[in-house]
Amino acid sequence: MSQFLSHKARRIVPYVPGEQPKAERLIKLNTNENPYPPSPRVREAMAAQVDKLRLYPEIDGETLRAAIARREGVQMDQVFVGNGSDEVLSLCFPAFFDPDCPVRFPEITYTFYKVYAELFDIPFVTTPMQEGLRVDVEGLLSGEGPVILANPNAPTSLALPLEEIERMAARQLDKGKVLVVDEAYIAFGDQPSAVTLIQRYPNLLVTRTMSKDHSLAGLRVGYAIAQRPLIEGLIRVKDSFNSYPLDRLAIAGATAAIEDEAYFALRLQQVKQTRDWFYEALIQRGFVSPRSSANFVFAKHATVPGKLIFDQLRARAILVRRFDKPQIEDYLRITIGTQEQMEEVLRALDEILAQAR
Ligand code: PMP
Repeated sequence: MSQFLSHKARRIVPYVPGEQPKAERLIKLNTNENPYPPSPRVREAMAAQVDKLRLYPEIDGETLRAAIARREGVQMDQVFVGNGSDEVLSLCFPAFFDPDCPVRFPEITYTFYKVYAELFDIPFVTTPMQEGLRVDVEGLLSGEGPVILANPNAPTSLALPLEEIERMAARQLDKGKVLVVDEAYIAFGDQPSAVTLIQRYPNLLVTRTMSKDHSLAGLRVGYAIAQRPLIEGLIRVKDSFNSYPLDRLAIAGATAAIEDEAYFALRLQQVKQTRDWFYEALIQRGFVSPRSSANFVFAKHATVPGKLIFDQLRARAILVRRFDKPQIEDYLRITIGTQEQMEEVLRALDEILAQAR
C-alpha cells in the first residue's frame, strides 16, 4: 500500500463485486444480471444522442426522472437518478445518517452497506438473522437511529410483506429517523413496492436499479423515490460530488427502457417462469432454499458442501456466487439465466451430486 494514501484510504475495506471474467463461453450466473438483452428501443434512443455528446447532459436527468415518475405515479421532483443504485445508496449515507447515531441493517444483507458506513464514518449495528435467514424487524427497530434494508433481501432472496415495511416506516417516523428500502429486486416478486407508501411517510426513501429488471447493468442507472425534501437531500450531496453522474447515453437509454413497458413485462415473465421451474428442480434434487422473490435463488444442498458444488460448477464453466461467511457458507446464489442455461446447470448439478454420493 502506498505511503501516500490517506489514513482513511488505508483503513477502508472495499466491496468485492462478483467476478467479471472475460471468457465468452461461460454461463455467468454470479452477479444477477438479466439473461435477455434490453429493449431494442434503447439502442435507437442512445444512437440519437451520439452527435450531442459534445454537450453536457441534463444536470438532474430530468427526462428520465419524468419517465420514472409517470410509470410510478409520483411527481418528477420525488425521483432522484444516479449512476447505478450503488451510487444512489452511497449518497444516502452522508445525506441521511450521522456519525453520532448508528444505522441498523441485517447481519446478512447487501455487503455494500457496511462499506459505505465505514467510508462515511457512520457507526452501524447489524441485527442477527432469525430462523430461516429471516430479517429481524423488531431488532432493526429497537435502536434510535436510521435503518437501511434490502427488500427482497440479498443474497437470501426473501421479501418482507408491505405491511411490515409500513410498520417500520411508521416506527421510524415516530423516532424522527429515515428508513431506506433498497428494492433492487422488487420487480421479480409478487408484492407491491414501498413506493406506494411514500406519500404517507416523509421519512421513507426507496431505491431501485435498472441493472436487473431492465437488463441495463452495463449502463449504470439507479434511482430513488421519496418525498421531495429527501430527494433534495440527495441532490445536495450529489452536487457536492458530481453534478452529472448520468451521461446523455444513459439518460436516453434508460428512458427508452422505462417507456417500453410491454417488453419489460415479457422479459420479467420469462425470468420468473424459469426461476419457479428451476426452484422446484433444485428441491427435487435435495436442495434447501427459501422461495425466491428475486431473479436468483439462494440454495444449499442437504448433504453436499457448497464449496464443492461451487468448484465443480466452475470446472464446468458455470459461475455462481458463494459467500464465505458463517451461516451461509454452504449456500450458492444462482442467478436465473435463460431456460436453456438453467437446464445446463441442472445437468451439471446431476453429475456433481452423483459423484459426491
Ligand atoms: N442493491 C442490491 C441489494 C444489489 O444486489 C445490487 C446489485 N449488486 C445493488 C443494490 C446495486 O445495483 P446497481 O448499482 O447495479 O444499480
